[in-house]
Amino acid sequence: MNVAKNLEVIQDQIANACKASGRSCDEVKIIAVTKYVSPERAQQAIDAGVIHLGENREEGLLDKISHLRDKPIWHFIGTLQTRKVKNIIDHVTYIHSLDRLSLAKEINKRANSKVKCLIQVNASREESKHGLDPEDVTGFIQALKQYPHIEVSGLMTMAPLTEDEQIIKDCFRKLKTLRAEVQQLELDYAPCHELSMGMSNDFKIAVEEGSTMVRIGTALVGNESEVQ
Ligand SMILES: *Cc1c(COP(=O)(O)O)cnc(C)c1O
Repeated sequence: MNVAKNLEVIQDQIANACKASGRSCDEVKIIAVTKYVSPERAQQAIDAGVIHLGENREEGLLDKISHLRDKPIWHFIGTLQTRKVKNIIDHVTYIHSLDRLSLAKEINKRANSKVKCLIQVNASREESKHGLDPEDVTGFIQALKQYPHIEVSGLMTMAPLTEDEQIIKDCFRKLKTLRAEVQQLELDYAPCHELSMGMSNDFKIAVEEGSTMVRIGTALVGNESEVQ
């Protein structure tokens, strides 16, 4: 496993997807998802030039923070239990999984300044998935007005696990359409410029469809959980 080499390959693939869709690569941030790997492996990603790291559990986040030499920009990407907000809030810059008002209330209460939040959307409407129903997104964002520490930086989704590229595309397109609807509201606390979509399996499609944040674990840093 050579993280620097993986990063190079991924950057090339992103550059190609940007070219194919007439976008600038500067618009796409790579978030290295380190939830399946050791702090050493996470450090290799930073050493290779990655600035953004993502974790989906409090324990993983705090373990990495205490072992890494550098201080990356942290993204919390997983389902966030309300009672855990106070433990992670001072460490993360972005929260990608805001999906209910009770969570917004707690983030607002525990934060000392504005937190960049992405609204998690169940764009494919799968039963098993977390996130808001697409129809509920604009109403939800309007209701966030009461929480001055919440900034709606963008929308996040996970595509279905399928070989059918059209289904994946439709999911990402749905998120982009929703972003336009949110931007039309012109709410000062909801600039909503980010689209967090695309993982190891589908980030090329996501970039072609407008992703500004790809969350890549396995293809970048591998998965050590099988050997632990
Ligand atoms: C684990 C995870 C990822 C990364 O998954 P890979 O398939 O390993 O790239 C991205 N987003 C979320 C929300 C995750 O939980």
